[in-house]
Amino acid sequence: RILRVAIMGLGGYGTRVADAMQACKRAKLVGVISGTPAKIKNWQNKYGILEKNCYNYENFDQIKNNNDIDVVYITTPNALHHDETIRVAKAGKHVICEKPMALNAREGQEMVDACQAAGVKLLVGYRMHFEAKTLEVVRLRETGAFGKIMFFQGLCGFRIGDPNQWRLNKALAGGGSLMDIGIYALNGARYMVGEEPVWLTAQETKTDPQKFKEGVDETIQFQLGFPSGAVASCLSTYNMNNLDRFFLNGEKGFAELQPSTGYGPIEGRTHLGPLTQPHTTHQTKQMEEMAGIILDGHKPIIAVDGNEAIKDLKLIDAIYKACKTGQKIDV
Ligand code: NAD
Repeated sequence: RILRVAIMGLGGYGTRVADAMQACKRAKLVGVISGTPAKIKNWQNKYGILEKNCYNYENFDQIKNNNDIDVVYITTPNALHHDETIRVAKAGKHVICEKPMALNAREGQEMVDACQAAGVKLLVGYRMHFEAKTLEVVRLRETGAFGKIMFFQGLCGFRIGDPNQWRLNKALAGGGSLMDIGIYALNGARYMVGEEPVWLTAQETKTDPQKFKEGVDETIQFQLGFPSGAVASCLSTYNMNNLDRFFLNGEKGFAELQPSTGYGPIEGRTHLGPLTQPHTTHQTKQMEEMAGIILDGHKPIIAVDGNEAIKDLKLIDAIYKACKTGQKIDV
């Protein structure tokens, strides 16, 4: 069987996913949900989408009666993910939701509960969880190649442009760089160290309060402590270019990836030598793997379900709290 996908939100990332899916053997773009009729027409022409598989934000609950769509892939601004996921679940379709899955852990839990109640799967667009060099580092760690893990560093950021975009609007983005790009360092710390943090500290700095309004973080540094004693030091920013680096250090060796989470190719090496796994377009690989998860019940090496996303959201809630209070938080 082939996973038949409708994309909701025909913006930059939705387009990237649609293009990447053209190379998939097990996933196919068959539908769209958009508020802009002209975009729907373009997509119909470009991807051969049938009129009966086109919806808008008013009528997409009717997708319930469409037997040609298995899953809706939500690529709208962050604040919309919660309500849209719950509506799609109620329409009986599986959901793939972009990161951050929600604005906070409470919303995330409501999404997981709604999908569970509806008997549909909820997956999150954690494309790095399928990336070959990333998985090789995880495999090496699990075989003990790095020895006891001591330290992880994750640096994730870019200089954001247009001050009027939704990413800099608290109501639509839910925050700033941490929601958007810092989440890669946070999520990466968890899968690189291979443990869940037990405490964290965080500090926010802002050089441009005009551009980065109240509640929209420009730069956050955060530190995580893990049960084994390993620590992580991470930086999330909207104000520095070319910041895309992971470094993992253990008693017997190390791994470094740079770039570590960009669209690729990912580059890296360990104390054993360069990482040579071939590059596959991340979104193509992700959709092939997600077809296996949804249709065949495959279990991914690193989880990509709603509960995995809640772990990140709980930590994001705690990082924002730590920035406000200056306190070390037990998580
Ligand atoms: P974008 O602005 O390019 O696209 C967003 C789309 O949502 C637009 O087509 C817009 O018209 C539509 N939209 C629907 N309702 C809207 C509303 N009420 N207000 C504003 N826009 C509305 O943004 P994007 O870069 O495609 O990001 C979309 C989502 O994808 C975000 O959650 C983002 O974090 C995620 N994303 C993930 C990755 C990744 O690598 N996994 C990369 C980029 C973006």
